[in-house]
Amino acid sequence: MAKIPKFETLDDAVEFWESHDSADYEEDLEDVQFEVDLRKNLLHPKLTVLTHRPAQCPRCQHDFDDITIEYVTSVDGRLLVIRDVPALRCQINGHEYILEKTLDEVEHLLDLQKKAQLQPTTTLNVPVFSLKTTV
Ligand SMILES: [Zn+2]
Repeated sequence: MAKIPKFETLDDAVEFWESHDSADYEEDLEDVQFEVDLRKNLLHPKLTVLTHRPAQCPRCQHDFDDITIEYVTSVDGRLLVIRDVPALRCQINGHEYILEKTLDEVEHLLDLQKKAQLQPTTTLNVPVFSLKTTV
């Protein structure tokens, strides 16, 4: 059974696990417990979190474009949209990344709105449908 190498950076770890199967390293895996953050960005579910801004896409080594995305999430059953969230998108394959510090800002904003210390800049009407009425 193979041993998992020690990784210098998160990028090294990402790169390694993209080309290796964790099933081959099962004996070397430790059980850990951690809180899973259920606040997902519904429009960008595959957004990868990076601790720092790399020069190029860690997955395919292409250059990034700086983009802004809408962060759509649900808090206590309410849909929330956060606009103007900076993110990175690789120019060739469209891999999307968000920096950890940006996510911290998103969390901070969600925290403020939860305590009603922040008013929304605008409110959207969202059309709601039911499959029952059409089938
Ligand atoms: Zn890429």
